[in-house]
Amino acid sequence: MSQTIFNIALDVPLNRTFDYLSGGFIARVGNRVVVPFAGRNLVGVVLEIKQTSDYPIEKLKPVSHVFDDVVFDSHTLKLLKFCADYYHYPLGQALISALPLRLRQIKPAVSRKQFAYQLLPNADISQIPARKVVLHRVIAALQATPVLAASELAFITFGWHKAILELKNLGLVSEHEVVAVKAFMPISTTEPILNDEQVSAIQNVLVLTHIFKPWLLHGITGSGKTEVYIQILRKILQPILKQPQAQVLVLVPEINLTPQLEARFRSRLSQYPLVTLHSNLSESERLQNWLAASTGAAKIVIGTRLSVFTPMPHLKLIVMDEEHDGSYKQQDGMRYHARDVAMVRAKQLNIPIILGSATPSLETWHNSTQNKTQKNQYGLLSLKQRAVENAALPNIFCIDTAKSPTENGLSPLLVNALRERLKRGEQSLLFINRRGYAPVLYCNACQWVAPCMRCSARLVVHLSKKRLECHHCGHEQKIPLQCPSCGNADLHPTGQATQRLEQTLQTLLPTAHIARVDRDSMRNKDALTDLLTQVHNQEIDILVGTQMLAKGHDFPHLTLVGVIDTDSALYSPDFRASERLFAQLMQVSGRAGRAKKAGEVLIQTAFPQHALFDALRSQDYVSFANAQLQERSVMQFPPVSYFALLRAEANDYAQVQQFLNLAGNLARELKQDVMIYDPVRPQMERLKGMERGQLLLQANSRVALQRLLKNWMPQCRELPIATKVRWSLDIDPLEF
Ligand code: ADP
Ligand code: ZN
Ligand code: ZN
Repeated sequence: MSQTIFNIALDVPLNRTFDYLSGGFIARVGNRVVVPFAGRNLVGVVLEIKQTSDYPIEKLKPVSHVFDDVVFDSHTLKLLKFCADYYHYPLGQALISALPLRLRQIKPAVSRKQFAYQLLPNADISQIPARKVVLHRVIAALQATPVLAASELAFITFGWHKAILELKNLGLVSEHEVVAVKAFMPISTTEPILNDEQVSAIQNVLVLTHIFKPWLLHGITGSGKTEVYIQILRKILQPILKQPQAQVLVLVPEINLTPQLEARFRSRLSQYPLVTLHSNLSESERLQNWLAASTGAAKIVIGTRLSVFTPMPHLKLIVMDEEHDGSYKQQDGMRYHARDVAMVRAKQLNIPIILGSATPSLETWHNSTQNKTQKNQYGLLSLKQRAVENAALPNIFCIDTAKSPTENGLSPLLVNALRERLKRGEQSLLFINRRGYAPVLYCNACQWVAPCMRCSARLVVHLSKKRLECHHCGHEQKIPLQCPSCGNADLHPTGQATQRLEQTLQTLLPTAHIARVDRDSMRNKDALTDLLTQVHNQEIDILVGTQMLAKGHDFPHLTLVGVIDTDSALYSPDFRASERLFAQLMQVSGRAGRAKKAGEVLIQTAFPQHALFDALRSQDYVSFANAQLQERSVMQFPPVSYFALLRAEANDYAQVQQFLNLAGNLARELKQDVMIYDPVRPQMERLKGMERGQLLLQANSRVALQRLLKNWMPQCRELPIATKVRWSLDIDPLEF
């Protein structure tokens, strides 16, 4: 007798899938199931339904349960299979971690579906007898407002539910699923008149909506990129004959940092159900939103990197805003890059994808300008002007700290500029990428600095809490009263960070209303939204903050940006440091002069002649990017070559070294066109008490690299030492 067998992916760190008997259950591919595994129950996903197994049937166990909430559609499964392959990560773990937490648990997913009702055109109401008062009441309501949600009908009349059922049976009313609309900060919905560059960008994209086509929308900050997305979305979502079902996915770096963006999409595309997916949602919200996307009820999904894996049955377009942003890279588990995954997804679905940025990643810039093969060439769309009339780009100047020395982190020139803005009732922003009070606690007598015992890092002074904190492992301790090394009681917080700068400013400018924005001050979920409202109401004069402030915010009254301390990044050993710094400074500069008031950016630096500042002053991304690409090409660094990094850590570095050495030898024996470096220690040698090491692989082609990895990874797993160290593979690593 033939048996039905399910091939199932499980959340276990093994590079294989598992066969189970159906146990009389009926399932579809993509369904969630519960199975017994090693003495416990696990949630799995059905990958295949078949009649035979490579294992003896009598040894197979039956599944314990099948949830009939359809989970992964075939496209999403295919995408995750590709990723598991490309990132050399167990498929089961990739699949399960792409699910909202609630769906990883052994519980049915309860969908709180909501429905809305609509009177059908040509509905013949005369057939309803006059005595059916409730029916007439519902019809009257539907005549007054064409679409009513169940919750709205409940307000209108008692007994609405029965009435609706009856009207549906009579064929007078249609029902469809709706997505609950969240409250949001209302935003002006006026339609701007598009400028020529915007019109041309939109037209270009809309000509090719039914094939895979990557676009780079390169537009300076404030050039109206978001406006372009909105107009393209509107056209794609517009129900047209034969294809009434479009959905779009909008990927953003960190949505909780840009509540304005969500509000803008909601206001301008209010007719389309929109859900968000990000880490600031409650687990039940996340589940509901995910389900709404996967049933097709939500037409617009705005989400952070993980949402690139959300099933969307009618996906017709992917937009990735701020595509250069580092937060698109997952830094643990399956270390995917959402941009690359989105590209694969668009290709699989044969749909367009738009990457937007003022400072595109060099990978994307390379693909848009230097890729020879026509097939993979990205279309380049440029917006060179600021969209708002008369809003010019800010003027950028360097303050030479050798000539105008800083006092408590601030040069007199910058203080004067702040004072000036205060007098004129304009706002300023001071950007410093370090939270806390001071980065170092220092003993003048013996040069001791407070170290983290678990990391190769210094402890940061948090004066308000009277504590020292490690920003890498979270370790906290009291500020010592005297130097543990020499007993000196005179310990100095040294260097600048947000809290100290805030304090200094308050002393220098006692009348100013100053607000600090960093992860400490913005712990509360709504804190940032509240603060942004205050800024818009001009209740704040000076903002002091980290890169949380750099992203996407529109501050019409802000005319000055001061940049405090970026010099360490200018000469960093990381070959991507310049690219990141340039993007960050362009972005933070873009906060100034967004409306009709001219903006000014002052950068304090000891290296005003640095080429990066030249490019920045002339706001010339193109020259900067081309020069960087030239350098990368000489050095044979990405994007002209491809990296993979084998990372390992253990309590004892000798084990790390042994593992990496053996792994390196195995790789060398495979003799592919791949360069294998010697193991080295990363800059952060110790993290959370673990000694770390890494081995870099470099190839001129992705194919060559993947070919090697495919043979090499199983060999690494087989190494006896592999179980004694914690190790992971990072394909296309961003950090070293
Ligand atoms: P970006 O996304 O490139 O930073 P936005 O789309 O946010 O730019 O546009 C910046 C500002 O300009 C917004 O306030 C937006 O409403 C406005 N804007 C966009 N396009 C136009 C236009 N064609 N005319 C006038 N204002 C515009
Ligand atoms: Zn000392
Ligand atoms: Zn630490």
